[in-house]
Amino acid sequence: MKPAPFDYVAPTTIEEACAVIAEAGGGATVMAGGQTLMPLLNLRMSQPFIIVDINKIAELKGVSRGAGVTRIGPMLRQCDAITSEALARDLPVLVQAVRHIGHHQTRNRGTVGGSIALGEPAAELPATAVALNATIEVRSTAGTRKIPASEFYLGPYMNTLQPDELITGITFPDWPKGHIPLFRELAQRPGDFALVGIVGALVVEAGKITRAGIAWFGMGPTPIKAKTAEQMLVGQSLDTLDIQAVAESAIADTAPFDDQHASAEYRRTVGKRIFASALREALKTGEVA
Ligand SMILES: Cc1cc2nc3c(=O)[nH]c(=O)nc-3n(C[C@H](O)[C@H](O)[C@H](O)COP(=O)(O)OP(=O)(O)OC[C@H]3O[C@@H](n4cnc5c(N)ncnc54)[C@H](O)[C@@H]3O)c2cc1C
Repeated sequence: MKPAPFDYVAPTTIEEACAVIAEAGGGATVMAGGQTLMPLLNLRMSQPFIIVDINKIAELKGVSRGAGVTRIGPMLRQCDAITSEALARDLPVLVQAVRHIGHHQTRNRGTVGGSIALGEPAAELPATAVALNATIEVRSTAGTRKIPASEFYLGPYMNTLQPDELITGITFPDWPKGHIPLFRELAQRPGDFALVGIVGALVVEAGKITRAGIAWFGMGPTPIKAKTAEQMLVGQSLDTLDIQAVAESAIADTAPFDDQHASAEYRRTVGKRIFASALREALKTGEVA
């Protein structure tokens, strides 16, 4: 299959990209790593007038520190996120999550921003952003907006981006040194999209959980904040914590679906199990701050 004809531009600045996107009046599509966009173009499921290739915009690349935050440029390749020392130090669970995205080949091109924008319900990165209360910075010729990740997703592959907006940064608030990463997913084969997954971070101080940020993926039309579990965990002391009870309650926040890969009931059953085992393992191996 060949894509429908389109114009192509490769701007070198954010301003230039925003101007082209605005001028196209909703007819432009941004290309980052192309790992999802190219198949959509070839299948003619996406037929934009103009492709705006953002691979040449240096401002969109890299990882930087701000006051109390880590900022990731949307054009950070997934393979570079895995080898980033800053991310391994400050956001270890994000590195763990990215290791589970696709394959070496797809991670060599696929970007952090492309995955965040796409909003695949079973994707690791959108759920990581929701779990860790990240903020998504978007820009257009009209200005900049900052959107909490928990408000960014509206449905499968649907987000709050306006047609003329470009994601220009994803900002994660700091977690204290020694916080405990929490990650587990079940997929039929390595590299497949997860059937069910859980991601997040915990802080344990003096034997008590003082902070928890957790989200589900593959358990509903969007990444889902595990609010009930977070509320149940914070304030709990480790020696009286009933992990199974938390896992049972955590499922209440989810809205799994039947599809050709698994039934909603299967996802609920497996969801409880991987939540409990991930939490048990994290608290067993985790450092105490
Ligand atoms: C075989 C295979 C297996 C995969 N397995 C997984 C998996 O297990 N888990 C997973 O999470 N993903 C998986 N993916 C998806 C892939 O890894 C990428 O995460 C995904 O394609 C998005 O990244 P990209 O940079 O390639 O974006 P593109 O394909 O370039 O773009 C995706 C969408 O995001 C939009 N977009 C991109 N950047 C921006 C921006 N800065 N601002 C606004 N909109 C933007 C594009 O317009 C497009 O609509 C897989 C892909 C393949 C081909």
